[in-house]
Amino acid sequence: MPPKPDILAAFEAAKGFMPVDEGLALHAAAREAGRLGLPLLEVGTYCGRSTILLADAARESGTVAVTVDHHRGSEEQQPGWEYHDPSVVDETPGVGRMDTLPTFRRTLYRAGLEEHVVAVVGRSPQVAKVWGTPVGLVFIDGGHTDEHATADYEGWAPHLAPEGLLVIHDVFPDPADGGQAPYRVYRRALASGAFTEVSVTRSLRVLRRTGLGI
Ligand code: SAH
Ligand code: MG
Repeated sequence: MPPKPDILAAFEAAKGFMPVDEGLALHAAAREAGRLGLPLLEVGTYCGRSTILLADAARESGTVAVTVDHHRGSEEQQPGWEYHDPSVVDETPGVGRMDTLPTFRRTLYRAGLEEHVVAVVGRSPQVAKVWGTPVGLVFIDGGHTDEHATADYEGWAPHLAPEGLLVIHDVFPDPADGGQAPYRVYRRALASGAFTEVSVTRSLRVLRRTGLGI
């Protein structure tokens, strides 16, 4: 079942980087993973656009979506770069850094999903290191350098429960379409033998954890 019209409308109204078709695939994966009854984990909250979909699936299964971000933006979102949005800069004198946390909170409030989300403000590898419970889904959509994407995979994949889903966004086999780091992580996950591919929706890949040895 796709999201109800109010959730879809909140998703479409939210600022962010998740197209509708890929969002629907993410939502379907989250609903399926939700049946495991474990938290659904996202790396890369930004302004909460994809979080809405995980939260809606979490609500349905009586679990929770956990979303991790330092809220200071990725490299390509900094001032002067391609994906910069001046409306998410903290203009407080002496700060002047990106801060997507206030916008994220408004997004979730408007969607009526606050109580189904635990937001963690911090760096993904540091959060992964102190994390201590299995999760039903890991959605990797954080930093797109090799350093960040690899750290997200190495930090979070071990927390994925057996039969849990690993979802990776911005997977571009052709370098002409985008950066290669998420694609390399996707190849690595498949090569590990611990994952089986479930679906491909443009740049969104869904893998199931069917083995050990991540
Ligand atoms: N899922 C979002 C888009 C995420 S954009 C959507 O649907 O619109 C990527 C986000 O990852 C940015 O907000 C950035 O701050 C965050 N990020 C990048 N590297 C990170 C890291 N190492 N730890 C935590 N967050 C990180
Ligand atoms: Mg993305």
